[in-house]
Amino acid sequence: MKCPAATYDIKVNLKNRDWAFKNVGYGPANPDEPNDEFWQERADEWNTDVDQAKTMRCGNCSAFIQTPEMIKCIEDGIEAGEEGPEHTSYAEDVVDSADLGYCELFHFKCAAARTCSAWLKGGPITRAMTSKQKNMLAMAQMEYGGDSEDEDEAEDEGEE
Ligand code: SF4
Repeated sequence: MKCPAATYDIKVNLKNRDWAFKNVGYGPANPDEPNDEFWQERADEWNTDVDQAKTMRCGNCSAFIQTPEMIKCIEDGIEAGEEGPEHTSYAEDVVDSADLGYCELFHFKCAAARTCSAWLKGGPITRAMTSKQKNMLAMAQMEYGGDSEDEDEAEDEGEE
């Protein structure tokens, strides 16, 4: 599998994450805080209550990719950015503690505890996607204006 650009290029990751912050309400900034306003907004747009909205997170979204191959891409990308000839890599710890995955819909590394307006039932994806899952994501991508940023990688991921 070819690693998606956002897993190794911090600028691509930040650009796509920033897009998600601004356009699909990716957040909250600190999931450990109550974030009442944020969750009320998500609950309103999903036509549900706050308690229910809080159960709908990246960590169980079907665009959230946590296959072993993708986790390796994320860890390798973090490790490549670490300095020094004899450094101890913290990449695995970072991925574990933040419970990171890759958002196949908007192409950035996201944290399991966050969410966005586009949340899709059925995740996380921990092994090769079925055709049904791929179709659902393709439809969601069309709904959110398609995806030119990382098309090659998205296709590669779908073929794993
Ligand atoms: S589409 Fe899913 S994985 Fe991507 S940011 Fe939204 S909730 Fe998270």
